[in-house]
Amino acid sequence: MTESNTPALWRNILPWPGPDAHKHQRGRLGVVSGPAWNTGAARLAARAGLRIGAGLVRILCPPGAAPVIAPTVTAIMIDEFLSPEALGRLADPLDAVVIGPAAGLEEETGYNLAALGRTGAALVVDADALTLFKDRPKALFACLDRDDVLTPHEGEFDRVFPNLLKHGRETAAWEAARVAGAVVVLKGRETIIASPDGRLRINPNGSPWLATAGSGDVLAGMIAGLIAQRMDSFEAASAAVWMHADAAERFGPGLIAEDLPELLPAVLRDLK
Ligand code: AMP
Ligand code: MG
Repeated sequence: MTESNTPALWRNILPWPGPDAHKHQRGRLGVVSGPAWNTGAARLAARAGLRIGAGLVRILCPPGAAPVIAPTVTAIMIDEFLSPEALGRLADPLDAVVIGPAAGLEEETGYNLAALGRTGAALVVDADALTLFKDRPKALFACLDRDDVLTPHEGEFDRVFPNLLKHGRETAAWEAARVAGAVVVLKGRETIIASPDGRLRINPNGSPWLATAGSGDVLAGMIAGLIAQRMDSFEAASAAVWMHADAAERFGPGLIAEDLPELLPAVLRDLK
């Protein structure tokens, strides 16, 4: 079944805080950063996660990156990790973790993903953490649960799911979610959100202003931020994709990725 991804589908299940809300219960989100010279993507995702309502957001980074990140963030916490096992220990108490944006194509990224897969946190896997597995996608799928989300653009999709795009984007996303056993967000002008149980949504409000560096990193943070707030992963991905595009349309010309998290309060207010 294919449906248009309109707010009517998920508006009533957006995670508004109740009167007794506590920051720990509003969702604990982690974002894995790349090395010291490549921290911007994680900061974009973390900021988006905070703006979409996660109560606590931590950037988990390799040695040497914390002093670079610290002067550029305020409410976001930072932890350095020295090994995949240490990353797993930091992530275990978190509700959701983003891995991939600017993570690097070294084997270490794969070990980090595997360690995260052994924690209780739901994963949003993007960018380098997808590309890394281009010759061995089964090793990626082995790290995933059904509440995890893959967010490839077409290039990344084709590396992880070779030969599927020739069947058309809808069929490709549907089959990808089935074989990965996770939610797949095939990004593009008409982003497709596919669930491993066969549900398929096509996003109707795509904005060309999103064609700018870093916008995908923001989307990953938004999806994970909603999952951290206990939203079902397929619904979280659907809501985030629509809100991401709505934010971009509101801003229009001159949009850069940094602007997107700052537009989310207005987007959220109009959905309440
Ligand atoms: P990434 O390629 O990872 O930076 O992600 C780019 C983001 O921008 C995705 O959410 C895409 O769906 C979106 N995007 C890029 N180009 C367009 C476009 N022409 N129309 C609509 N959305 C777009
Ligand atoms: Mg990207």
